[in-house]
Amino acid sequence: MEAENKLIYMDNAATTPVHTKVLECMLPYFTNSFGNASGLYSLSVEAKKAVTQARKILADMLDCYQDEIIFTSGGTESDNLAILGAADAARRSEKGNHIITTNIEHPAVRNTCEFLGQQGYDITCISVDRKGMVNPLEVEKAITKKTILVTVMLANNEIGTIQPIREISRITQSHKVLLHTDAVQVFGQLPCKAAELGIDLLSGSAHKFYGPKGIGFLYCKRGTKITCVQHGGRQENGRRAGTENVPLIAGLGKAAELAGQRLEEQAAAVREIRNIFMQRIMNEIPGSRVNGDIMNRLPGNLSVTFEGIEGESLLFHLDMHGICASSGSACSTGSKEMSHVLKAIGHTKEEARGTLRFTLSYSNTQEEIEYVMKHLKESIEMLRALKDL
Ligand SMILES: *Cc1c(COP(=O)(O)O)cnc(C)c1O
Repeated sequence: MEAENKLIYMDNAATTPVHTKVLECMLPYFTNSFGNASGLYSLSVEAKKAVTQARKILADMLDCYQDEIIFTSGGTESDNLAILGAADAARRSEKGNHIITTNIEHPAVRNTCEFLGQQGYDITCISVDRKGMVNPLEVEKAITKKTILVTVMLANNEIGTIQPIREISRITQSHKVLLHTDAVQVFGQLPCKAAELGIDLLSGSAHKFYGPKGIGFLYCKRGTKITCVQHGGRQENGRRAGTENVPLIAGLGKAAELAGQRLEEQAAAVREIRNIFMQRIMNEIPGSRVNGDIMNRLPGNLSVTFEGIEGESLLFHLDMHGICASSGSACSTGSKEMSHVLKAIGHTKEEARGTLRFTLSYSNTQEEIEYVMKHLKESIEMLRALKDL
């Protein structure tokens, strides 16, 4: 008998479990070492040390200065702070009001840009090709004298396509325009060095790489002017008010440290198991098609469109067998609207509906692939047969 009670988790782009070492690292800061990191007694010194240590780890991984890291409540806040902050600072200096973005951004960027559009900013939204790739020349063409910011995600959460950010940053640098990148799907999964990427602002989030939810960071290059979004105390060099969330910051640091120790190995392992899964789907399930770019792709991402399938029904069947995957993206699940990313790469409503996203991690095994394949094939055959009745 197979283990029907087992949970097979293939939705790591939505979130990841907290690593036990990360949990252990956080616990003392909830209890014994609960001090406010801004205090002056020894209890606070311990808290302050934890925050400094986490900042140091992130700075090492990003190859940047420690004062270029701002702790936030997660990827969403980092995106908001980068975009709203840069937009307001530019408005104050009367630089301009034009922002360039793409049509595949995460809602945290997409809706922030839309909000700025309503506030009178001029937003240009660049289209991607059928693989979800931004053409750097399109970015260059869109730049005007009034352009203050370009925001292009490093890799897409739905289809996994990795953008040519270095080529884009050469363009933004030569035009002296700020470049922000949402690296939430990349930081902790693949090497991510600020200077190498040539970006000015970069967002990351702990819960996408075995850290806790509700904590993230914004890399803000020295000299980059951003207005703070949240007003209050002088924490984070006056750029993000509010008592430091010491336990979660310590957890973010630990998660980054663990990820950093095995970055390349883990990416290679995930890529290998993903490729095996992808090959098997292609070979064994007729009418299936992989979305996104095969080469420039997040190691764990597998987005597949199954012809004539209602994705939500398929997910339901998989869930009955303990398999967690996602339709389109976790953020758009529950809404009736078609995923803007699948629309951007030219999917019809039917194709979008038949699309599932599996996002694997290093802990997925060959046996799990075997088990998922069995249920995937059975469910798809059954759903297609029902449809033909
Ligand atoms: C998850 C995600 C976010 C949001 O991060 P939170 O920490 O959940 O707010 C932003 N951008 C991308 C690409 C993501 O995958």
